[in-house]
Amino acid sequence: MSTSKEHIADNIARVRARIEAAARESGRSADDITLIAVSKFQPLELIREAYACGAHVFGENRVQERAEKAAGWTEVGAVWNMIGHLQRNKARRAVELFDCIQSIDGAELASLVERAARDRGVASYPIMVEINTSGEASKSGAAPDGALSLIEHITANCPTLSVDGLMTIGPLTDDERRVRASFASLRELAVRARAEFGLAIPHLSMGMSGDFELAIAEGSTMVRVGTSIFGARDV
Ligand SMILES: *Cc1c(COP(=O)(O)O)cnc(C)c1O
Repeated sequence: MSTSKEHIADNIARVRARIEAAARESGRSADDITLIAVSKFQPLELIREAYACGAHVFGENRVQERAEKAAGWTEVGAVWNMIGHLQRNKARRAVELFDCIQSIDGAELASLVERAARDRGVASYPIMVEINTSGEASKSGAAPDGALSLIEHITANCPTLSVDGLMTIGPLTDDERRVRASFASLRELAVRARAEFGLAIPHLSMGMSGDFELAIAEGSTMVRVGTSIFGARDV
């Protein structure tokens, strides 16, 4: 069940307090951590309320759902991130509807997004490379050992794309060491990619409702939080 509109402000305040505490614990500033409110499957009414409470960066999983919501959305200044698996035949539409695609997981998809961005005449289109750091078969993302060559492909062949970050979904386990190891491996990949290709790659998008404190401890700069803001999804 979705939470009711009245609870959104409290939920966001609680999430922000958790982010603050986790940042402090690792000697980091919460200002360096962006909260992405994951609004997939949530009604516009709740998303508007989150926006009114200062959550201006959103994450959605599906192109079609984002298109439907865009039709009824009037608030200016919201930033929309595509965080779900992107089918190649929806790349063009995704570029129209999203400010950033975090789920680039292959060279062919990158090239399709490049062409779509170029055709739209944008000078620079932000993307992130999604890596399957947990190795779980159910998770999307490029395999870690193919990550550097994918980033190299983008650097060499996709001049319109700006690699703003790496993204991952932590493993589904209570074993904190495994979760942290997964996040640490994303951070290490970013370090290697920056050194090898001279890129800034400012962001590590990692951490969800159940594990974002661990992600912050491992250097996350973007946490993607759905359930802790909006309640459980009705699916
Ligand atoms: C749904 C989703 C989230 C948010 O998950 P919660 O556990 O509800 O916070 C974050 N990232 C991705 C890629 C998702 O699909």
